[in-house]
Amino acid sequence: MFNPEEMPIFPSISLKPEVTEYLKSIFLNKEVLAVVGQQEAEHRFQKLLTCLSHPPSYTCVRASTHLAPLEEIRHKLQEELKKQMGSSSAEEAPIQILPHPRIADVLLLPVEGPRPVKQLGSEVLVGAQCGSAVLRGAHVFAPGIIASPKHMKVGDKVSVFSDLEGRCTRGATSFQGNKVFVGNGVAEMDRSSIFCTDEPTRGVGVRMVEPLYRSPSFDGVLPDLAFLQNLPSVVVGHVLGPQPGERILDMCAAPGGKTCHIAALMGDQGAVVALDRIRNKIDHIFQNAQMLHLQSIKAYCFNSTQAVSSEPAQESEGPPFPPESFDRVLLDAPCSGLGQRPNMASTWSLKEICSYPPLQRKLFQAAVRSLKKGGILVYSTCTVTLAENEEQVAWALNTFPCLTLQPQDPHIGSEGMLGAGLSPEQLRLLQRFSPELSWDPTETSIPLSCRADKDTIGFFIAKFMKN
Ligand code: SAM
Repeated sequence: MFNPEEMPIFPSISLKPEVTEYLKSIFLNKEVLAVVGQQEAEHRFQKLLTCLSHPPSYTCVRASTHLAPLEEIRHKLQEELKKQMGSSSAEEAPIQILPHPRIADVLLLPVEGPRPVKQLGSEVLVGAQCGSAVLRGAHVFAPGIIASPKHMKVGDKVSVFSDLEGRCTRGATSFQGNKVFVGNGVAEMDRSSIFCTDEPTRGVGVRMVEPLYRSPSFDGVLPDLAFLQNLPSVVVGHVLGPQPGERILDMCAAPGGKTCHIAALMGDQGAVVALDRIRNKIDHIFQNAQMLHLQSIKAYCFNSTQAVSSEPAQESEGPPFPPESFDRVLLDAPCSGLGQRPNMASTWSLKEICSYPPLQRKLFQAAVRSLKKGGILVYSTCTVTLAENEEQVAWALNTFPCLTLQPQDPHIGSEGMLGAGLSPEQLRLLQRFSPELSWDPTETSIPLSCRADKDTIGFFIAKFMKN
C-alpha cells in the first residue's frame, strides 16, 4: 500500500486563465451555489482541476463476450498479464482482474499509484499525449519521444518526463520547461534510431519498468478479446440498447470503440452504419471491426450534418440516408474533451472550447431526422461544460417537441448538473460522470467496483425517444 505522505505532488491541470474562469463560472453557477453553497462548490471545482491531471484508479477493459464467456476472457487475461509481469519484476504482486458487478462485459483492473519512484540523472522527454498514455500503463513509443540524452543507447536507464505545453523542440538533448515526471524505463532504441532517420520510427522506444502509476500495458494483449475503453464509453453502448436485426447509425464513430460495442451487443445481427468526417480515421473503424470479428459494420467517410436527405443517393447503401431510416442513433459528439484523464495541460482557448455547441446542434438536428418514430437517440460527450451537455438537452427538448428523455440502464454516474434550467425529474434522467464528487486516490477501503463507477473520466449521457 502506498503512503499518501510520500506521494509525489502532481499539479492540477494547467489551463489558460480564461478557460479556468469559464469553468469556474459553470461549477459555481447560481443554481449550484443555492444548493451546495460557495465553499462546497469551490472545493469541488478545485478537486475537479486536480483529478483531471491524474489517471482514474483502475483500468477498464471491455471483454468481447460475443466471442467468449467473460470468465474465460478473465482467465486468459490473467495468464497473459502474468507472463508480462514475469518479464518485468518477480517481486510485484499479481494484478487483480474483477468483473463489474452490474455490467456484464466489463473487467476492472486496479491501478496502483502514484508510487514513490526515484528520478534518475538521464531524461527522456515525451509529448503530453504520450505522457498521459504512460500514466495509464503504456510504454513509450518512438514517435512520442521529443528529447533524449545525447548518447542514449539501448539498455540505458532513463527517467521519462511529459512536456506539458509542447514547448520542447524535437531532437533536443535536454529541456528545462514545464514538465512532469511519469516514471523510469529502459531505452529500447539508440538516440540515432529515433531522430536520425528519414522514415518515421515505429515500435517501443522506452520500456517502462518503474512507472509512477502501475497498470498493465495492453499492447498486443488478447487484441480480439480485451478492448481498452473508459467505463462511461461502455455504459453508452448499453444505454443505447441495440437489439439484433436493428439498423443503427453511429454518427461520429471513429476510431470505432462504441461502433464495435454496438455490433457486439447485437450479436453482429443487423446493420451498424458508422460515419466519420475524417478519412484516415475510417480505416481505424475497419481495423477494429476486423480485429473483433464483426461483420455488421459499414463505415463511410461523411459529414454527418448532411447525413439525411429527402433525395438520398440512388442505388447506394451509403449516405445520405432517407429520413426516419434508423431504429437507434448514437451521437457521440465532437466536444471540448475536458473530461479526459489524465490531462495535465490544455492549451485550448475559450474560443476553441465554445466552438463546439453550434456543431453539436447541427449534428443533433440530423440525428433527429434520421431516427424512426419510436426510435432511440443517445447523445454523449467526454466533457464537463454545461453548454455541451445539460444546455444541449434543454435546447433539444425545446426545439424538438417529439423528443422525451428516457431512463438509462445502467445508471451508475451522477445526475445532470444544475444550471441549465432543467427540472429535478429531467436531471435525474441524465447521467453525468463527475469524478470531482468522489475522487480520493488514498481511499482504498471502498471496494474497487464502487470506486470504479465514480473515479472515471468526465462524461455525459442523455437518452431520448422520438415520439
Ligand atoms: N465514437 C467514437 C468512439 O467511441 O470511438 C469517438 C468519437 S469522437 C468523440 C468524435 C468524432 O467525431 C471524431 O472522430 C471526429 O472526426 C468526428 N466528427 C467531427 N465532426 C464530424 C462531422 N461533422 N461528421 C462526422 N464526424 C465528425
